[in-house]
Amino acid sequence: MNFVTFVHEGREQVGILQEGQIMPLEQLLKRPVNNMIDLIVPFKTEWLTQIEQQVQAGGIAGIPLADVKLLAPIPFPRRNVICLGKNYADHALEIKITKISDTFLPDRPIYFTKMASPAAGHGDTISISRQVTVEVDYEVELAVVIGKDGTNIDPAQAEDHIFGYTIANDLSARDMQVGHKQWFKGKSLDGFCPLGPVLVHKSAISWPVELNIQCRINGELRQNSNTKNMIFDIPYIISDLSRGLTLKAGDIICTGTPSGVGMGFEPPVFLKDDDMVECSIEKIGKLTNQIAFIE
Ligand code: MG
Repeated sequence: MNFVTFVHEGREQVGILQEGQIMPLEQLLKRPVNNMIDLIVPFKTEWLTQIEQQVQAGGIAGIPLADVKLLAPIPFPRRNVICLGKNYADHALEIKITKISDTFLPDRPIYFTKMASPAAGHGDTISISRQVTVEVDYEVELAVVIGKDGTNIDPAQAEDHIFGYTIANDLSARDMQVGHKQWFKGKSLDGFCPLGPVLVHKSAISWPVELNIQCRINGELRQNSNTKNMIFDIPYIISDLSRGLTLKAGDIICTGTPSGVGMGFEPPVFLKDDDMVECSIEKIGKLTNQIAFIE
């Protein structure tokens, strides 16, 4: 089941997307659902059946996808988006400027966070000031959305704590990352965390999560891998992160990017004005954003 946050006739709502039609969740569930967090926190598995029965009954008019503006599934995450650096070996090896070990591979997960307030949505143009950065890079990533609070989660219980999955583009200002010797600001500029287009419930994704993941710039394939190639897999990440740090429903974990980022080219190839960035993950969809440099 694909959940979306959308604006229709000026009102922000949460719904499901099926065959080009959106159905509002407050009608399907007959309860107020003001935003995606309102769905995730109290969510019960039996709601999936209830929603499907309501759809089958046919009494609720769908809104054509073309008539709405999609937002990020969670436009305002309650906490910073948690990210992993260097979590695919081929990517760790293409970014040798920040050497972390003799093998260039991490011994333990590299965690950092980025702010997304709001997270950009599918179709949004990302406006970037040339006064701030001229070295903007793309990173397609599988984003895991936590569904249930937990501390010290056993790897075998990790899936139980997941709500679902979406696509993230961990946009990064490389000149700022290098200049600050720290990743936070260079990854937290306004619009630098596109998410979407949908939040797929975990019941639609088989476990372990092995999905093809790609990024295209103006149609040219730049990144092409599978989420099975992560160095630290999803159960490990959830278990390790939650040791002494409570993960909360609605938390978003970006699981790292494969090779093919602009910084990995010799010389580097950074994003330019008007570039179209298309991040895609099997069974989730395509997250597309245009880049616009402004003075
Ligand atoms: Mg990243």
